[in-house]
Order: sequence, then structure tokens, then C-alpha cells
Amino acid sequence: MKRHVTQGLSRYRNRRDFKQSPEPHRTPRQNLKRKNRFVIQKHAARNLHYDFRLQVGNVLKSWAVPKGPSINPADKRLAIPTDDHPLAYATFEGVIPKDNYGAGVVMVWDIGTYKNITKHDGKAISMARGYREGHLEFELYGKKLRGKFALVQTESKYKGKQYWLLVKMRDTHEDRRRKPIVSQQRSVLTDRTMDQIKRDES
Ligand code: MN
Repeated sequence: MKRHVTQGLSRYRNRRDFKQSPEPHRTPRQNLKRKNRFVIQKHAARNLHYDFRLQVGNVLKSWAVPKGPSINPADKRLAIPTDDHPLAYATFEGVIPKDNYGAGVVMVWDIGTYKNITKHDGKAISMARGYREGHLEFELYGKKLRGKFALVQTESKYKGKQYWLLVKMRDTHEDRRRKPIVSQQRSVLTDRTMDQIKRDES
């Protein structure tokens, strides 16, 4: 049952040629100690999307969110589960070369830590268990996003995969008008735009 949560990094590694791609192969040991990291990467692959990643154990559980996160609790954003990524991926920003898996520009759109607030029948449970049960609640402490969010697995399938929804939970950080993915388009690591990353690193 644990295996389901820590799928491990074999799928991540099998899809990539690390001689060609600048993406990290592994996480330096001293880096494994940090806990509860999250990152949102803007990724201009074949289709532009945002990769939402939460540290669970020693990997980043990952979802592709085509429309990106919203801070309006009325929005339910499709979140398609993708491969676990190494923790070192949280600070990866650059260009995945043409003909490689996920080819295109990757920007660190937001980064920070989170607090697990997932409950089951009113009792606090671990992220690993919440993941298995398809229901996660967490509070983000990012540079752009703050406050409570939920990721909830649905019964429905999208292109054969059971999908999740990313939703802003109600709190003082909700905002029905502000759209951070529109108003805050630069990297939180380097302050660059997608075009600047492309120009610098191609
Ligand atoms: Mn991606």
C-alpha cells in the first residue's frame, strides 16, 4: 500500500535522457532533509500547463493543471496526476531540449512550504494517506499563493486517467477578482519571463 504513494522515480528517469536534458537526475543527500516543500512550475510544453508539486516523503507528488491555480473558491481546476519527481526538481528552471520528454520552457512560478491540514472523519491524517484516499488539504506559504487549498480525486476520467480537482478553500486569502497567473507572470527564482528563460538558456 505504501508502494502506491512512493511510486519512486523510475518512470521519471525512464522517460528522460539526462545527457540531453538539464533536468536533475537525483536529489543531493543534504537536500533530502527539508520537509513539506511545494512548487508550481509553468511549463510551455506541447500544451502550456502548470505543474503542481507537493513533497510527500522523499518525492514530489505531481499534477498537471492545464489552466493553472486560481484563488477564487468557485473555480475547480482540472489536475491530472503525473509522475513523481525528485525533490531537486523544485528549483529546476530552464529549457528541456527539443525531441525530449516535456520539451519546452520550465519556470518556477511559485515555491514555498505547506502545512498539511488533511482530515479523515475529523481526525488529522498524513499526506501519504490523504493521497491514497484521494483527498488532500493543505495551507500554502508561497511567494505568490497563500492559504488553504484542496486537491480532490474525482470519479471521472480524463484521457483514461482518474483526475483530481485543485480548489481554493475559503479563507482570508481567497480573492474572486485577482488572477495571479495573469498578473504575476515572472519566475519567483530569477524574476524572468518565459521568453527570457528561453532566450537565456536555448
Ligand atoms: Mn509539465
